[in-house]
Amino acid sequence: MARYTGPACRLCRREGKKLYLKGERCLTGKCAVDRRGAAPGQHGAANKKLKEYGMQLRAKQTAKRYYGVAEKQFKTYFTKAEKTAGVTGENLLSLLERRLDNTVYRMGLAESRREARQLVLHSHVRLNGKKVSVPSIILKVGDVLTIREESKESAKIKELIEKVQSTKAPKWLAVDTENLSAKVVAIPERSDIDFDFQEQLIVELYSK
Ligand code: SF4
Repeated sequence: MARYTGPACRLCRREGKKLYLKGERCLTGKCAVDRRGAAPGQHGAANKKLKEYGMQLRAKQTAKRYYGVAEKQFKTYFTKAEKTAGVTGENLLSLLERRLDNTVYRMGLAESRREARQLVLHSHVRLNGKKVSVPSIILKVGDVLTIREESKESAKIKELIEKVQSTKAPKWLAVDTENLSAKVVAIPERSDIDFDFQEQLIVELYSK
């Protein structure tokens, strides 16, 4: 299925919770979830009680939309998580968290994952010194992200750099604000991800 390019706020309203897809706006009174809440569409406001499958589906859609991942790719991550030792749901979140675009976002260089994805697609980011433009790359311990030297001169990047100074990076990522780089120092654990994902429901959905 093609990547969703419609209004981001609609996705949050559909899931009934903030997915923080629009950066600073999500923290203001302009947030559509705070203002309207109900799911989009004619019957959005109806109080529907979800059955088991509905809850599992919503749990999967929430994670998929939060990280901006397409259906097929999400399933690929799940298969990989299943084959990895440990708890499948936690492995899945750890993989999603280590995506290149998410790491750029966690590093503080973008207000949202969508913006981070654009930075990667436009080749502003270097991975271990090499040019990359694939947002879905999964980083591993020891990988180092830097910003392309020429990009540091762009007004937009300079504006983002100022934000890095105030961003609190997760503990699995060591950010060097002077040189504008970040190193993956650990595999993200469930406790490092501060969102109420219901990963067990995703596992149940795919186990049917
Ligand atoms: Fe979601 Fe942000 Fe829009 Fe609120 S403002 S509905 S959190 S994308």
